[in-house]
Parts: sequence; structure tokens; C-alpha cells
Amino acid sequence: MFIDLSEQTAIVTGGSSGIGKATAKLLRNCGANVAICGRDEKRLREAESELNAISGSGNFFARTCDVLNSDEVEAFTEAVTKEWGRVDMLINNAGQGRVSTFADTDDMAWRQELDLKFFGVIKPTRAFLPLLEKSKTASIVCVNSMLALQPEPHMVATSAARAGLLNLVHSLAIEFAPKHIRVNSILLGLVDSDQWRRRYEQENSNQTYEQWTTELAERKRIPLGRLGQPDEPAKAIVFLASPASSYTTGTSIDISGGLARHVS
Ligand code: NDP
Repeated sequence: MFIDLSEQTAIVTGGSSGIGKATAKLLRNCGANVAICGRDEKRLREAESELNAISGSGNFFARTCDVLNSDEVEAFTEAVTKEWGRVDMLINNAGQGRVSTFADTDDMAWRQELDLKFFGVIKPTRAFLPLLEKSKTASIVCVNSMLALQPEPHMVATSAARAGLLNLVHSLAIEFAPKHIRVNSILLGLVDSDQWRRRYEQENSNQTYEQWTTELAERKRIPLGRLGQPDEPAKAIVFLASPASSYTTGTSIDISGGLARHVS
């Protein structure tokens, strides 16, 4: 997929792995200036060398930043301001899911999950808003989950938090519309990433990772019969972030291989 994004500037939180990294690569390939962040320095530097190898026309940099730490988010924003002085696309992607039932989730776990899902979006959005306001084509894309509409009891806190985020995206879209900032989200099913690799390793399965993911797709009854690949949500994210979707705000795209059981 190619959309000409030369002269455009994008921020991808959690850009050092999985969906965020695939999105940053696609944005680079489309010619955008791209800045990514993540907490783990080593993982970030590995992603940085992969992304530097892409010969997009725009510039690129990576910076350690925990999106839940206001000072670090501020420092990341200042670095972007110094480098480019504007932002056109903010991709709020950083995060991970929590596997736990209601019985297994204590108050601390609830707080951590709600904190990550809400403040992981709120803090970067607040920090980058003044830069987005300078853009004529500004947009925010939040990476969300199908759990927002279709909760799973074994991911009770993540499901509830995801539903709240879907609601928040709609509120932001209305509030920011007069500033010409569009706000949308994608709703993911199961996408092959480090998250799933970590769960596979925790299970100590005697299957190969490929066998394990194939069985997972069968067990979850994904109509397309497989997990998604990170570049598949990346294409939807870049579409929603770019001026190619200039009349779309307050909505979401389903990237779940047909997993959604509801009609809406
Ligand atoms: P990965 O684990 O591969 O990537 C997550 C990225 O987020 C990493 O770069 C990680 O880097 C970063 N990150 C996590 N927490 C923070 C933080 N507090 N501050 C800054 N960066 C952070 O997972 P995915 O690519 O799968 O996940 C991307 C998004 O998609 C997440 O929000 C996830 O919840 C969501 N999602 C994914 C699904 C899937 O099936 N893959 C399904 C539904 C939703 P580091 O750890 O170094 O900080």
C-alpha cells in the first residue's frame, strides 16, 4: 500500500514491536517523518536499526518513553517539537492485554489495566495536541480491541477498559472536530506479535509456535482461519491516520478476520 505522506509527521507509541513497528515501517515507506517510543532500550534500538534501513524520504528517530510517565511523555514531545515542530498523525498503540477473570483480578490489577488503557492514550494525546493543532490534516488513531464490543470473561479488565476507550475515541472525535483533528480507532482480533509469542513461551507448549497459533485460530473459530499479521492492521491504521480518510472521524475499522459475532 502506498499513500504519499511526504511532508507529513507521525508519532507511533509502542513502535518498537509488533503492530506499532509495522505501522512505523509503512509510514516510513510512504515518506513520512516518523518518531517511535517504547520502554525497553534494547528493543527500541533494534527497531531503530530496522527502521533506519528503510529509505523513505522522511526522517526518523526513536526515544525511550513510558506513555504512563508524564515527564517522559513531555520529554518525547519536546524532542519532536525540536526536530519537526509539528505532528500530523498520532498513533496511540502502546500497550498489552491482561489475561484474568473477575475472580483473579484484584484492585491493583484493575487500576493498572484501567491506567494503561486510558492514560496510555490520554497522556500522549494531551501532550501532542498543541502540535496536532498546527496541522491542516491532523488525526489520531487509537489501537483498540474487538473486546470493546465483544468481551471475553478471561480478559475481564481488558474488555471493560477497551469498551471505555471506544467511548473515549468518540468523545474526542466530537470535541476535536472543530480543531479539524480526526480521531478513529481500529478493533483488533488476534494479531501475531510479541504479545502472543510471550503467551506461547509462558505455556511451555511442546508445539512449534506455528502449530500453536494455528490451533489458537481454530480454537477461537476465526473465520479466516489464522491470526492476522502486523502489517494488516498497519494498513488500516495508516489509512485512518492519513488524509486518504479525510471525511472519517469517530469510528473504527474491524481487523479481526471475521471474529466479530455482532452486527452493528
Ligand atoms: P507488542 O508487545 O508486540 O508491542 C507492544 C508495544 O508497546 C511495544 O513496543 C512495547 O514496548 C510498547 N509498550 C507497552 N507498554 C508501553 C508503555 N507503557 N509505554 C510505552 N510503550 C509501551 O504487542 P502488539 O503489537 O500486539 O500490541 C500493540 C497494541 O495492540 C497494544 O495496545 C495491544 O494491547 C493491542 N492489541 C493487540 C492484539 C493482538 O492480538 N496482538 C489484540 C488486541 C489489542 P516496551 O515493552 O519496550 O515498552
